[in-house]
Amino acid sequence: MVLTPRNISKSEALDVLKGFENEGLILLEASVPGRVSLDGWNPITGTKQAGNVAGVIVRFWGTGQKGTESQIKSGVAPDRLDPRNAMAFVLMCQTLNTAWGITELYHAGISGNGNNNCHGQGRAVDFVGVRGDIKGAEVYFTVFDDWGNVHVPGVTTSNGDWPPGTGSNTSYRLLAQEAPDSFATQFFLEFYNFAATNYQDRNTGFELPDDPTEIGKQSRFIMHPDHPTSAPGTANGREAHKGHVHMQIGPTGPA
Ligand SMILES: [Zn+2]
Repeated sequence: MVLTPRNISKSEALDVLKGFENEGLILLEASVPGRVSLDGWNPITGTKQAGNVAGVIVRFWGTGQKGTESQIKSGVAPDRLDPRNAMAFVLMCQTLNTAWGITELYHAGISGNGNNNCHGQGRAVDFVGVRGDIKGAEVYFTVFDDWGNVHVPGVTTSNGDWPPGTGSNTSYRLLAQEAPDSFATQFFLEFYNFAATNYQDRNTGFELPDDPTEIGKQSRFIMHPDHPTSAPGTANGREAHKGHVHMQIGPTGPA
Protein backbone atom coordinates (compact mmCIF):
# COMPACT_ATOMS: atom_id res chain seq x y z
CA MET A 1 0.00 0.00 0.00
CA VAL A 2 2.65 2.48 1.04
CA LEU A 3 5.43 2.34 -1.50
CA THR A 4 8.32 3.80 0.45
CA PRO A 5 11.69 2.02 0.28
CA ARG A 6 11.79 1.05 3.97
CA ASN A 7 8.41 -0.67 3.68
CA ILE A 8 8.83 -2.84 0.60
CA SER A 9 10.63 -6.11 -0.09
CA LYS A 10 14.02 -6.31 -1.76
CA SER A 11 12.45 -7.88 -4.87
CA GLU A 12 9.86 -5.10 -5.09
CA ALA A 13 12.64 -2.53 -4.79
CA LEU A 14 14.56 -4.31 -7.55
CA ASP A 15 11.51 -4.10 -9.81
CA VAL A 16 11.28 -0.35 -9.13
CA LEU A 17 14.97 0.04 -10.00
CA LYS A 18 14.53 -1.88 -13.25
CA GLY A 19 11.67 0.49 -14.05
CA PHE A 20 13.97 3.47 -13.41
CA GLU A 21 16.52 1.89 -15.75
CA ASN A 22 13.91 1.34 -18.47
CA GLU A 23 12.94 5.01 -18.19
CA GLY A 24 16.59 6.02 -18.73
CA LEU A 25 17.00 7.49 -15.23
CA ILE A 26 19.78 5.16 -14.02
CA LEU A 27 22.09 2.38 -15.21
CA LEU A 28 22.55 -0.84 -13.24
CA GLU A 29 25.71 -2.94 -13.40
CA ALA A 30 26.58 -6.47 -12.36
CA SER A 31 26.85 -6.88 -8.59
CA VAL A 32 27.15 -9.57 -5.96
CA PRO A 33 23.99 -11.68 -5.48
CA GLY A 34 21.22 -9.84 -3.66
CA ARG A 35 22.88 -6.44 -4.03
CA VAL A 36 22.63 -3.61 -6.52
CA SER A 37 25.50 -1.65 -8.03
CA LEU A 38 24.75 1.62 -9.79
CA ASP A 39 26.73 2.62 -12.86
CA GLY A 40 27.40 6.27 -13.63
CA TRP A 41 24.74 7.44 -16.09
CA ASN A 42 23.74 10.86 -17.35
CA PRO A 43 19.95 10.73 -17.72
CA ILE A 44 19.90 13.88 -19.88
CA THR A 45 22.38 12.78 -22.53
CA GLY A 46 21.65 9.07 -22.15
CA THR A 47 25.35 8.23 -21.89
CA LYS A 48 27.67 6.88 -19.21
CA GLN A 49 29.18 9.48 -16.87
CA ALA A 50 31.31 8.56 -13.85
CA GLY A 51 29.43 8.93 -10.57
CA ASN A 52 26.19 10.28 -12.05
CA VAL A 53 23.06 8.99 -10.30
CA ALA A 54 19.79 10.49 -11.56
CA GLY A 55 21.53 13.75 -12.54
CA VAL A 56 23.77 14.09 -9.46
CA ILE A 57 27.51 13.30 -9.36
CA VAL A 58 28.20 11.27 -6.19
CA ARG A 59 31.55 12.04 -4.55
CA PHE A 60 33.26 10.98 -1.32
CA TRP A 61 34.26 13.78 1.09
CA GLY A 62 34.90 12.52 4.61
CA THR A 63 34.68 15.80 6.52
CA GLY A 64 32.55 18.10 4.39
CA GLN A 65 34.45 21.03 5.89
CA LYS A 66 34.44 23.95 3.47
CA GLY A 67 37.99 24.95 2.65
CA THR A 68 39.07 21.34 2.18
CA GLU A 69 37.46 20.85 -1.22
CA SER A 70 40.77 19.45 -2.55
CA GLN A 71 39.93 16.29 -0.55
CA ILE A 72 36.76 15.60 -2.57
CA LYS A 73 37.14 12.38 -4.56
CA SER A 74 36.12 11.85 -8.17
CA GLY A 75 32.57 10.76 -8.88
CA VAL A 76 31.77 7.10 -8.18
CA ALA A 77 28.25 5.62 -8.25
CA PRO A 78 27.62 3.46 -5.15
CA ASP A 79 28.04 -0.31 -5.31
CA ARG A 80 26.76 -3.42 -3.47
CA LEU A 81 23.65 -1.76 -2.07
CA ASP A 82 20.62 -3.40 -0.59
CA PRO A 83 17.99 -2.82 -3.32
CA ARG A 84 15.80 -0.80 -0.92
CA ASN A 85 18.64 1.58 -0.15
CA ALA A 86 19.51 1.82 -3.83
CA MET A 87 15.90 2.80 -4.53
CA ALA A 88 15.87 5.35 -1.71
CA PHE A 89 19.19 6.83 -2.84
CA VAL A 90 18.07 7.18 -6.47
CA LEU A 91 14.92 8.94 -5.28
CA MET A 92 17.08 11.19 -3.07
CA CYS A 93 19.32 12.20 -5.98
CA GLN A 94 16.35 12.74 -8.28
CA THR A 95 14.56 14.87 -5.68
CA LEU A 96 17.66 16.96 -4.92
CA ASN A 97 18.24 17.54 -8.62
CA THR A 98 14.70 18.55 -9.49
CA ALA A 99 13.80 20.51 -6.33
CA TRP A 100 17.14 22.20 -5.57
CA GLY A 101 19.17 22.08 -8.78
CA ILE A 102 21.74 19.86 -7.09
CA THR A 103 24.42 18.42 -9.38
CA GLU A 104 26.91 17.11 -6.79
CA LEU A 105 26.31 15.07 -3.64
CA TYR A 106 29.02 14.51 -1.03
CA HIS A 107 29.05 11.52 1.31
CA ALA A 108 31.20 9.74 3.88
CA GLY A 109 30.11 6.22 3.03
CA ILE A 110 27.38 4.51 0.96
CA SER A 111 28.74 1.42 -0.82
CA GLY A 112 28.45 -1.92 0.97
CA ASN A 113 31.81 -3.28 2.11
CA GLY A 114 30.80 -6.66 3.50
CA ASN A 115 30.86 -5.75 7.20
CA ASN A 116 28.01 -7.27 9.20
CA ASN A 117 26.00 -4.08 9.87
CA CYS A 118 23.81 -1.58 8.03
CA HIS A 119 26.73 0.15 6.33
CA GLY A 120 28.52 -3.06 5.42
CA GLN A 121 25.33 -4.54 4.01
CA GLY A 122 24.75 -1.50 1.80
CA ARG A 123 21.70 -0.33 3.75
CA ALA A 124 22.97 3.04 4.96
CA VAL A 125 24.05 6.46 3.69
CA ASP A 126 26.28 9.02 5.40
CA PHE A 127 25.22 12.30 3.77
CA VAL A 128 27.76 15.14 3.91
CA GLY A 129 26.49 17.87 1.60
CA VAL A 130 25.40 19.09 -1.82
CA ARG A 131 26.26 21.60 -4.50
CA GLY A 132 24.41 22.98 -7.49
CA ASP A 133 22.51 26.03 -8.54
CA ILE A 134 18.93 27.04 -8.81
CA LYS A 135 17.90 29.83 -11.18
CA GLY A 136 21.49 31.07 -11.28
CA ALA A 137 21.97 31.17 -7.50
CA GLU A 138 24.57 28.83 -6.03
CA VAL A 139 23.36 26.15 -3.66
CA TYR A 140 26.23 24.82 -1.53
CA PHE A 141 25.49 23.27 1.85
CA THR A 142 27.47 20.92 4.02
CA VAL A 143 26.19 19.42 7.25
CA PHE A 144 29.34 20.52 9.04
CA ASP A 145 29.48 24.16 7.96
CA ASP A 146 25.82 24.98 7.56
CA TRP A 147 24.34 22.95 10.43
CA GLY A 148 26.62 21.12 12.90
CA ASN A 149 29.18 23.88 13.28
CA VAL A 150 26.61 26.68 13.50
CA HIS A 151 26.74 28.67 16.72
CA VAL A 152 23.30 29.88 17.72
CA PRO A 153 23.62 32.25 20.71
CA GLY A 154 21.81 30.82 23.70
CA VAL A 155 21.45 27.45 22.02
CA THR A 156 24.80 26.00 20.93
CA THR A 157 28.35 26.81 21.97
CA SER A 158 30.87 28.73 19.89
CA ASN A 159 32.06 25.56 18.16
CA GLY A 160 28.54 24.37 17.39
CA ASP A 161 28.28 21.75 20.15
CA TRP A 162 25.30 21.50 22.47
CA PRO A 163 26.28 22.72 25.96
CA PRO A 164 27.03 20.22 28.74
CA GLY A 165 23.81 19.25 30.51
CA THR A 166 21.64 19.54 27.42
CA GLY A 167 20.91 15.82 27.55
CA SER A 168 18.11 14.92 25.14
CA ASN A 169 16.63 18.43 25.19
CA THR A 170 17.67 19.34 21.65
CA SER A 171 15.82 21.02 18.82
CA TYR A 172 16.48 22.06 15.23
CA ARG A 173 18.99 24.81 15.96
CA LEU A 174 18.66 26.59 12.62
CA LEU A 175 15.04 27.49 13.39
CA ALA A 176 16.20 29.17 16.60
CA GLN A 177 18.60 31.58 14.97
CA GLU A 178 17.74 35.22 15.31
CA ALA A 179 18.37 35.77 11.65
CA PRO A 180 18.25 32.31 10.15
CA ASP A 181 19.81 31.55 6.82
CA SER A 182 16.42 30.53 5.55
CA PHE A 183 17.89 28.84 2.50
CA ALA A 184 19.99 26.36 4.50
CA THR A 185 17.31 26.04 7.16
CA GLN A 186 14.74 25.08 4.56
CA PHE A 187 17.12 22.76 2.72
CA PHE A 188 17.91 20.63 5.77
CA LEU A 189 14.26 20.62 6.81
CA GLU A 190 13.26 19.20 3.43
CA PHE A 191 16.21 16.82 3.41
CA TYR A 192 15.31 15.50 6.87
CA ASN A 193 11.72 15.06 5.83
CA PHE A 194 12.84 12.99 2.86
CA ALA A 195 14.93 10.83 5.19
CA ALA A 196 12.13 10.44 7.73
CA THR A 197 9.69 9.17 5.13
CA ASN A 198 12.02 6.94 3.07
CA TYR A 199 14.54 5.63 5.63
CA GLN A 200 13.93 4.24 9.14
CA ASP A 201 12.65 6.94 11.46
CA ARG A 202 11.08 5.79 14.73
CA ASN A 203 11.72 2.05 14.51
CA THR A 204 13.31 -0.58 12.29
CA GLY A 205 10.11 -2.15 10.97
CA PHE A 206 7.13 -0.98 8.93
CA GLU A 207 6.38 2.72 9.43
CA LEU A 208 3.61 4.73 7.84
CA PRO A 209 5.15 7.75 6.07
CA ASP A 210 2.43 10.19 7.13
CA ASP A 211 3.82 11.14 10.54
CA PRO A 212 7.56 11.77 10.23
CA THR A 213 9.47 12.98 13.26
CA GLU A 214 10.81 16.51 13.52
CA ILE A 215 14.52 17.25 13.73
CA GLY A 216 15.70 16.96 17.31
CA LYS A 217 12.59 15.11 18.45
CA GLN A 218 11.86 11.40 18.92
CA SER A 219 13.79 10.03 15.94
CA ARG A 220 16.10 7.19 16.74
CA PHE A 221 17.58 6.09 13.47
CA ILE A 222 18.34 9.29 11.55
CA MET A 223 21.51 10.67 13.10
CA HIS A 224 22.45 14.37 12.78
CA PRO A 225 23.97 17.29 14.74
CA ASP A 226 20.77 17.94 16.73
CA HIS A 227 19.90 14.33 17.59
CA PRO A 228 18.58 13.89 21.16
CA THR A 229 21.18 11.21 21.91
CA SER A 230 24.44 12.45 23.39
CA ALA A 231 27.26 9.91 23.35
CA PRO A 232 30.61 11.70 23.28
CA GLY A 233 33.57 9.56 22.34
CA THR A 234 31.41 6.95 20.59
CA ALA A 235 30.11 6.57 17.03
CA ASN A 236 26.49 6.61 18.14
CA GLY A 237 25.49 10.08 19.26
CA ARG A 238 25.03 13.58 17.88
CA GLU A 239 28.68 14.35 18.60
CA ALA A 240 29.77 11.80 15.98
CA HIS A 241 27.28 13.24 13.50
CA LYS A 242 28.30 16.88 13.54
CA GLY A 243 29.35 16.64 9.90
CA HIS A 244 27.02 14.07 8.38
CA VAL A 245 23.47 12.77 8.45
CA HIS A 246 23.20 8.99 8.84
CA MET A 247 20.20 7.18 7.29
CA GLN A 248 19.49 3.46 7.14
CA ILE A 249 17.06 0.80 5.96
CA GLY A 250 16.38 -1.91 8.56
CA PRO A 251 18.29 -2.40 11.81
CA THR A 252 21.70 -0.99 12.70
CA GLY A 253 23.27 -4.40 13.24
CA PRO A 254 23.17 -7.43 10.90
CA ALA A 255 19.96 -8.22 9.02
ZN1 LIG B 1 26.47 6.11 9.16
